[in-house]
Amino acid sequence: MKIRIDGGTVVGWSGAGHEIVPNGSVLIEGDAIKSVGTDKSQPADRVIDASGKIVSPGFVNLHVHSQLNVGDYLLGDVTKKDYLAANWFVFGAPLKEKVETPPAPAVALGRKYALYSALRNGATTVLDPGGGPGALDDYVAIVGQLGGRVFFSPPYRSHDIFTDSQGRHYYEEREDKGRPGLKRAIEFIRQFHGAHNGRVQGILNPAQAETCEPSLLRESVAAAKELDVPIHIHAGGNLREFLQILNTYRKPVVEYLAATGILGPRTIIGHMAITGGHSRVDYPRGDELKLLAQSGATVGHCPRKCAKMAFAMESFDQYLAAGVRIGLGTDTYPLDIVAEMRYASLISRLVDKNASGARPADVFNAATIGGAKALGRDDLGKIAPGAKADLVIINLRTTRYGPVRDPINALVEYGSGADVETVIVDGEVVVENGRSARINDEELFAQAETGATRAWDNWAARDWNGRTVEQIIPPAFPTRKI
Ligand SMILES: [Zn+2]
Repeated sequence: MKIRIDGGTVVGWSGAGHEIVPNGSVLIEGDAIKSVGTDKSQPADRVIDASGKIVSPGFVNLHVHSQLNVGDYLLGDVTKKDYLAANWFVFGAPLKEKVETPPAPAVALGRKYALYSALRNGATTVLDPGGGPGALDDYVAIVGQLGGRVFFSPPYRSHDIFTDSQGRHYYEEREDKGRPGLKRAIEFIRQFHGAHNGRVQGILNPAQAETCEPSLLRESVAAAKELDVPIHIHAGGNLREFLQILNTYRKPVVEYLAATGILGPRTIIGHMAITGGHSRVDYPRGDELKLLAQSGATVGHCPRKCAKMAFAMESFDQYLAAGVRIGLGTDTYPLDIVAEMRYASLISRLVDKNASGARPADVFNAATIGGAKALGRDDLGKIAPGAKADLVIINLRTTRYGPVRDPINALVEYGSGADVETVIVDGEVVVENGRSARINDEELFAQAETGATRAWDNWAARDWNGRTVEQIIPPAFPTRKI
C-alpha cells in the first residue's frame, strides 16, 4: 500500500533536525516513509489532501497509564493535605484489607480507553508504565486492535504502599520481594516483544524509586540488558517519595538511582521534578543534573501533572542547559501531548521568570525525537525516508489559531490534540477525521462512563475514611435538587 500526503506544511528532517517543507508531499510505502519533498507526481494507492494542515511526526508520549479516569479524577483539593501533594496515594495506597483485584472487563476497558485516548490526541507511540493488573495476551490484542505503537510490560515492585485506618500511609516489603513480578515482565517481553509488526515493544517497569529495593533495580538493569529493552521508573515525582528515599538511604533520589546503576541512556525517569535544591525541598542541590546528564538517562517530563499538584520541574530550560535529555508525557488525563508541549513551555517560563524560555522548537523536539531517542528508536519521531510511517495531520485552519505564520510556534502556543484529524501508524490510517478507523468511538465512551461511574459510586467502600468522591473532590457547583 502506498499513501501520498499532499499540500500540507510538512515537518521534515534535514539530517540534523526538524525542518519545514511548505506545500510538501510525503510518500509512504508499506510501514515506512519513502520520500519527503514537494514532488506530487509519484504514484500512490491513496492520496490525502493536507492543505492548511501540519503533517507532523507522530508524537511520543512517555507516560500513559492504561486505565480509566477513575483515579486521576481524585487528584486534587482535599487530598492535597493528606499526602504532601503526592495525592495519587488516594487511589494508589489502598487499605491493605480492602485491596481487590479489579474485574477483567474493567481492566480491559481501562487499557482500551487510555491507549485510544493517547492515540487520538496524536501520540503514535506511548510508553505505558502500567495500568490495571490483568491478562497480558488481552493487552497485546488491544494494542493490535487500536493500531498504535506501545512500549509496555507489567510493572513490579519489592514494596507496596498502603494506608492504615487512621489515614497514615506506609511502605511494606512484599513477601515475594517483587521477583515474580520481574519474572512475569521478562516472560511478557520474551513472548510479545515485536508483536503486531513491531508495534508491541517491551520495556521493563520497576514501578517507583522508593518501592524498589536496590537489588531489584540491579536485577532489572541486568534483565533489560539481556532482553535489549529500555527501562522506565517513576522517581522525583513528589515530596513524600523524596523524604522516604532520604530517610532510608540518606541520599536524594537521583544519587540513590545512580548508586543502583539504573541510570543510563536507555532509562526513562518519569517526572524527576523533585531534586535536592528544588524550592519545595530543604535539601541542597548537589550534582544531580550532572549525574542525569552524564548517564544519558531521559527525564519523562509531565508538566501538567506537577502543576496540578502545585509544583513544577525547576526547570525544563535548566535541565536542557545542563545537558539532561528530556521527553514529554501526560500521565493523567487529558492524554493530550499537543497541549502538554504548551504546559512544558509556559511552566518553564514561569519558573525561570523568562518570557523567552522553553522555545517551541525545544518542547516539540522533546515530544518527538526526545521520546524516540529515549526508547532507543532512531526511526521514530521524525519524517524522514526510511523512518517508520508514524505521522499525524493536524488542522490549523480553525478559529483556535487565527491566521498562522509559523506552524510549530502556532501549534505549541494554541494547539490541542482535538485538532489532530488523521493518525497514521506503521503506514496505516488508524484515526481519520478525528475518529478511530478501527473501533466505535461512541461505544467506547459509553462503556467508559458506565465503568467509571460504577467505580466512583463505590469509592467510599475502599477509602480509608469512607469518603465519597464528592468529599474528596467537592463539586464545582452545588447540584439543584429536583
Ligand atoms: Zn505514572
